[in-house]
Amino acid sequence: MIEIDGSLGEGGGQIVRSSLALSIITGKPFRIRQVRANRSKPGLLNQHLTAVNAAVKISGADTSGVKLGSTNFTFSPGPCVPGDYTFSIGTAGSTTLVFQTVLPPLMIANSASSITLDGGTHNPMAPPFEFLRDTFLPALQEMGVSVKANLKRYGFYPKGGGTLHFEIQPAETMAPIHLGEKGGIKSINAQALVVKLPEDIGHRELKTLKAKLSRLDHAKVTAVNEGVSQGNVVIVQVKTGALTETITAIGERGLKAELVADAAALETNQYLSNSAAVGEHLADQLLIPMALAGEGSFITSVLSSHTTTNIDVIQRFLDINIKTKQLGDSQWKIEVFK
Ligand code: AMP
Repeated sequence: MIEIDGSLGEGGGQIVRSSLALSIITGKPFRIRQVRANRSKPGLLNQHLTAVNAAVKISGADTSGVKLGSTNFTFSPGPCVPGDYTFSIGTAGSTTLVFQTVLPPLMIANSASSITLDGGTHNPMAPPFEFLRDTFLPALQEMGVSVKANLKRYGFYPKGGGTLHFEIQPAETMAPIHLGEKGGIKSINAQALVVKLPEDIGHRELKTLKAKLSRLDHAKVTAVNEGVSQGNVVIVQVKTGALTETITAIGERGLKAELVADAAALETNQYLSNSAAVGEHLADQLLIPMALAGEGSFITSVLSSHTTTNIDVIQRFLDINIKTKQLGDSQWKIEVFK
């Protein structure tokens, strides 16, 4: 049984999710201690519990110690069974992070899967739906995995109630990809999404964005009045020669619209300030697919603790080399090879 220290590096939920995915893929059981030790509420929260239960559902795994708040559990998977699954978080916890757990085994399975997830669709500290659809999944498509992503309903903290649907067509063999420099900026577009809140919030956000970004090709407010949640998110998409980066800032009760847009502008300007195509979040999320392809590389501007921690976890399960090399002030090359 592989022993995982959940306080390693980042010490968050990613260690749990990556371990679950890689355990199903390799058939190797694991025990994890000190689950999410570096978070203010350690242990398995609802969202992580849903991820463990989702992993159990697709692999028929045996577990011990899996319950709300648990900081120590074991997981012994069976073979991955593709199919139609629904996973409900029951709170506003992130659906995309639960998806991130089941996707790696399902994207190399022997037939297609259809996944529905209920909960939060736009959460702080998690990939928002548009990031998955427009940034992460197109990279997977280049590796041979085809995933159709659909947002049926928005879900925000605290009420949740969002629904995402994914159709996964696995790759026969995953192809390596290499992502280097941006290669020029093709467009910068923004959307201020306002769900069951005054539309004016979105207009104020776009006004701030226009003032803080040196280029903005298209900007629109999208007002939605369906679902149980209220919420707001500013989404900036930068299309480069290599990929589309999705930068988001999520509104919160009591946080001024101008400050939400400020955060999105700051991150966009940081992304534009260097030549690397892969942003901080895509960097840690590309590692498992590249390791499964057996090869891949990218240049990124930040070597985050999510990236270094994920490298450690991947190497506990797979026999793969992952090298990080600093090329310059804010330039790192990550290479995955056998
Ligand atoms: P953890 O904090 O360990 O639960 O992991 C959070 C995961 O969400 C990591 O894979 C992050 O890269 C990802 N993530 C957090 N914020 C964003 C964001 N704004 N856009 C895309 N991915 C994100």
